[in-house]
Amino acid sequence: MAEIVLEGITKRFPDGALAVRDVDLTVGDGEFVILVGPSGCGKSTTLNMIAGLEDITDGTLRIDDQVVNDKAPKDRDIAMVFQSYALYPHMTVRENMGFALRLAKVDKTTIRSKVEEAARILDLTVHLDRKPANLSGGQRQRVAMGRAIVRDPKAFLMDEPLSNLDAKLRVQMRTQISRLQQRLGTTTVYVTHDQTEAMTLGDRVVVMRSGVVQQVGTPQYLYDEPRNLFVAGFIGSPAMNFLHATLEENTLRTIVGDIPLAADVRQSLERQNAPRDLIVGLRPEAFEDPALVDPGRPGNTFSTTVDVVESLGSDVYAYFTEEDWQPTATSELEELAADSGLSETGASGHQVVVRLNTATRIREGSRAELWVDTSRIHVFDPRTGVNLT
Ligand code: ATP
Repeated sequence: MAEIVLEGITKRFPDGALAVRDVDLTVGDGEFVILVGPSGCGKSTTLNMIAGLEDITDGTLRIDDQVVNDKAPKDRDIAMVFQSYALYPHMTVRENMGFALRLAKVDKTTIRSKVEEAARILDLTVHLDRKPANLSGGQRQRVAMGRAIVRDPKAFLMDEPLSNLDAKLRVQMRTQISRLQQRLGTTTVYVTHDQTEAMTLGDRVVVMRSGVVQQVGTPQYLYDEPRNLFVAGFIGSPAMNFLHATLEENTLRTIVGDIPLAADVRQSLERQNAPRDLIVGLRPEAFEDPALVDPGRPGNTFSTTVDVVESLGSDVYAYFTEEDWQPTATSELEELAADSGLSETGASGHQVVVRLNTATRIREGSRAELWVDTSRIHVFDPRTGVNLT
């Protein structure tokens, strides 16, 4: 069983930087887990501790039910794939892929058959005698994967393996990695800062911020039930909109109209002592052109001025501005926005993006009505960022 278990894993660098704090995580046998978060959140350090490339300051790391804190990387039986591929330029694809096995003194015939099998899986057979310089970026990336596969390790650890590829190739390779992982069934931990990659690749996603795990779950769960503002803003594209709201009895006053609170939401807010000023989160896909909504469907219709309309072929994005945005009331949100690269917020108002059906007739610069499904609100405490719903 190649299960990887992290218990209270902490990393403090000699200069005092606390890069990873008390991480508990179990990666199941054969599971594909993604570590995602903004630059500097501690994903690579976590991966490097699993690989044995960084010492663990505190906590216990188990691979396959054995404590490996003090085991050298080569004795952990795991294979790492880096962003840089780290191929040897003077060796052919065949030599690159077989290198680790040669070091391990595996006999030549076995090396040959393993390398050829991996090349078949990765569609590299015709390139086996080429040098890396004569390969495309995507082919080099596959050689790096091949080098990991031939070792038949207990686990793959991948650190941003696609970030050197152009956007189109990245999408292709994403599908290939996903298929490959399913076919081989090898436990995999994959690091990325790209939320789309995280959402499309893994069985489960671990969202990190400042060395701390924010939430762990399937992509759908994180999208539907983000625990806090950070996860809500990080997962989903375009990002969730955050609007200022005032709690008045059983209603939330917002620029998208008054939103009546469902009994369970109201109870939850009461239980958690919610303040009067709150943040409402609404995903762009909760909005629609009212002309295209079934009559009688519950929700709010409100009037606004649409600043920009973008047609993407499959959808239309429309933007409007929340003028009375109050940054002082939402310092947690401001900090999170900076951290997660959320849409800009500021004293002059902040932009709200909505996703509409292509049949919409809403035009740029015009006064328009928009509809929003108010059952899809999230309510956050601006002091802590916690999702109260
Ligand atoms: P990126 O996506 O930019 O690689 P990351 O999420 O992988 O970011 P890490 O590389 O794990 O982040 O770094 C986590 C934190 O630890 C950062 O604040 C970083 O500056 C710090 N850090 C990393 N390596 C060292 C080191 N050798 N000495 C001191 N601090 C370090």
